[in-house]
Amino acid sequence: MNNHLQRLREEERIQRQKNKRSSKLVLTFVMFSFSLLCLIGVMATIDPLSEKKSSDSEGLSQTIRQTETDEAEEWRLLIISRDSYLPVDFTVDLKKVGDVRVDHRISDPLESMIEDADAAGIKLIPVSGYRSVSEQRVLYDDKKASFLQQGYGEEAAEIYTRELIQPPGASEHHTGLAIDFLTMGITELDEGFAQSPAYQWLRENAANYGFIERYPADKTEKTGVSWEPWHFRYVGTADAIAISSMAICLEEYK
Ligand SMILES: [Zn+2]
Repeated sequence: MNNHLQRLREEERIQRQKNKRSSKLVLTFVMFSFSLLCLIGVMATIDPLSEKKSSDSEGLSQTIRQTETDEAEEWRLLIISRDSYLPVDFTVDLKKVGDVRVDHRISDPLESMIEDADAAGIKLIPVSGYRSVSEQRVLYDDKKASFLQQGYGEEAAEIYTRELIQPPGASEHHTGLAIDFLTMGITELDEGFAQSPAYQWLRENAANYGFIERYPADKTEKTGVSWEPWHFRYVGTADAIAISSMAICLEEYK
């Protein structure tokens, strides 16, 4: 009897332990499922964030790329004039072409243009390329001194000088993107250049190399500079072709 009772108790104890174990299992399973759900929840919250973040950084890198493109374009279309002086922090890397120095980025198209003109029997002689602000000051002061020597008063000498020469800081030659040409039979930078075959050749071909006639006869009010048929300016081929075909000046194009 005692044995029977003892066995019953033993069975009860085993059963209790079994129950206890299965409740533990259930609890563990519930906790695991809960953790899993939490994790999924957190992931779901994080995912859109990280997607947004990556799309944000994509947008940012696009903005940076756009800015870089704008900056890359900007140098070619830079306008330096009496209304827009050269920035004080302006710098340029120069390269020699013939006897002049130009922005190194335009030396190849300039050389190609001179070579192709030569092959067509046209002599393009570059006589002015890059000019520093202090070199411009010397030119300006010398010209003014010559008017003063001729007997003009201070004010008149200043006015006449400004008609002929851009004040220091206002010359496009500071950019290294402008070139003055002479040719066979033409030894002065004056309107006589417009009568030369070189001018005709430049009018027809310069845009293909990225150059425009910068101060056309009919645009003096827009450019603020009188006609300079000898002065050409690099803007890049696509823009030069657009500007030339529309017969506009850089001020109207920008
Ligand atoms: Zn010039």
